[in-house]
Amino acid sequence: MRPFLAAVILSGPPAWAGGVEDSDSFANVDQFRVTHIALDLSVDFPSRVLRGSVGLEIKRLDPRAEQLVLDTRGLIIGEVSQLSTDIVGQTSKSEPIWVSRPFSLGKADPILGSPLIIELPPSRAATVTLKIDYETTPGAAALQWVTPAQNAGRKQPFMFTQSEPINARSWIPLQDTPLVRVTYRAVIHTPDGVVAVMSAPNNPNAKRSGDYFFEMTRAIPSYLIALAVGDLKFKSTGPRTGVYAERSGVAAAAAEFSDTEAMIVAAEKIAGPYRWVRQDILVLPPSFPLGGMENPGLSFVTPTAVAGDKSQVSLIAHELSHSWPGNLVGNATWRDLWLNEGFSAYLESRIMQAVYGERRATLEDVLDLAALRAEMAVLAPTDQALVTDPAGRDPADAFNGITCEKGRLFFDYLDAKFGRERFDAFIHGYFEHFAFQGITTEQFLAYLRDNLLDRNPGAASYAQIDAWVGGPGLPPDAVLPAATAFDRIDSARAEWLAGKVPPAKLDTRDWAPEEWLYFLDGMPALGAAQLAGLDAAFGFSHSRNAQIEHSWFMQTIRDDYRPAYAPLQIYLKSTGRRKLILPLYQALMRTQSGAEFARRVYSQARPGYHPVTASSIDAIVIIKQ
Ligand SMILES: [Zn+2]
Repeated sequence: MRPFLAAVILSGPPAWAGGVEDSDSFANVDQFRVTHIALDLSVDFPSRVLRGSVGLEIKRLDPRAEQLVLDTRGLIIGEVSQLSTDIVGQTSKSEPIWVSRPFSLGKADPILGSPLIIELPPSRAATVTLKIDYETTPGAAALQWVTPAQNAGRKQPFMFTQSEPINARSWIPLQDTPLVRVTYRAVIHTPDGVVAVMSAPNNPNAKRSGDYFFEMTRAIPSYLIALAVGDLKFKSTGPRTGVYAERSGVAAAAAEFSDTEAMIVAAEKIAGPYRWVRQDILVLPPSFPLGGMENPGLSFVTPTAVAGDKSQVSLIAHELSHSWPGNLVGNATWRDLWLNEGFSAYLESRIMQAVYGERRATLEDVLDLAALRAEMAVLAPTDQALVTDPAGRDPADAFNGITCEKGRLFFDYLDAKFGRERFDAFIHGYFEHFAFQGITTEQFLAYLRDNLLDRNPGAASYAQIDAWVGGPGLPPDAVLPAATAFDRIDSARAEWLAGKVPPAKLDTRDWAPEEWLYFLDGMPALGAAQLAGLDAAFGFSHSRNAQIEHSWFMQTIRDDYRPAYAPLQIYLKSTGRRKLILPLYQALMRTQSGAEFARRVYSQARPGYHPVTASSIDAIVIIKQ
């Protein structure tokens, strides 16, 4: 175990994240810091590229530095020029002159991409202004291009970005590290018939002119720069909330997410004022690989979140909660990801309690704990600490149950040890103190020590805190959700399995979606007649809840229940959320007949999947050519 808190105490709290190295970026942030980005991009659907320029306003920290190093991946760089007024000794009164600067692209790393090295003359000027002409390539990891046939409306194409964690560099040359925060402006040119939206205040009534202007005046890390373009309609759901979706889905999405304003109000009571003006939700095409992405002011979500019964709204609560951990006070590097994800998962649970009641929040917490335990069972002890060594790893792998669920349990622990009132005051103070910064684990711990631990001696020791942050597994004093929450589901399942009650006679009237999941996930191996009985009674094969379908298909694959394969095929072709489909492919590949089915379905479904999803499944399903 690494004694983090002891290390912080010995060295004193770092004043800021200067001197911190981000091993996932090539940028020389101690010599130059980008402060503002100005994008001017055209969206070219037929070629699947973005083309245009980026202006960078840069603070020069080192007058002797001769090279600016930016992150790129797969970008084609046309020209780099510098505004002459930044060069001391040259005229600044006359018209601005752009001076071309030599540049080179370094050797490509498979995870990090290529450094873009720009030669700059040493200067005492405090700022540098650059313009880079560039275009993206069709395989850009951040971009997905959806053909009209692949989306709901079937008339217009759709494109969207997913920059987190280190994919912003595949569509913008920049310092791609959360250590650096920028404001941005963007002009986006689109074909007719589609609208552009970004992670900045959007105008729902913008004229469909083909030119869209955005301005983000709050400093955000590069991974929160986001763009989506499609035939979008807007529907308001509250004073500062609304949904964007394709025409056919906008009414259902507005009904599903009608509680977003209530969620904001609940979160503000815990974490302080909401700083992002609006909280709109963009429903993406089925190929969106994630549950959601907390782009500021405009959460991107999977269409599986629109289940018709508000059963997936914890996902909305999660993305909203990132308006504080992550978007307002974020991780300095991906090593510190638990500060974003664990804290957000904690806030999410608090929002769910406030808006939907204690019981539902507890049910979700129990399911999440079970998933964490299953994940920990196959993780090496060194990978079970909240902070792990990021060297040589893809930072995308850090998004797991440890940073999220174990992180949440750490915040639950602090909440329980120090009491709700004191802990809420701490949370308020924390977001005020570090607002609009990326911070390290060590900075968090120093703040925790000064504002909670030392002010309330005896509640939790430094060693106990270290066990959470640097140690494996769950510490013995973890505060866990009540294990009895699902007792009535356990008895219902047992009665049915014992043949005492036929499925249709089970009293399921007020079961929450989490209880249905638990009911299915706890099943032993079943025979064909039992499965047919369940499906006839509850229609699992055609549930509108994609998570319940997922659990049902996991069961039917394990039991090789053939009648479920036709609906399974439809599900695999129409769902792009990686978390839901990857385990199904894994389960299918365990048997020969399952593998044949998986290969056949995957060869048809793959063109519709996001590159992130496809690359994960490629590693499991090998299609014979
Ligand atoms: Zn998250």
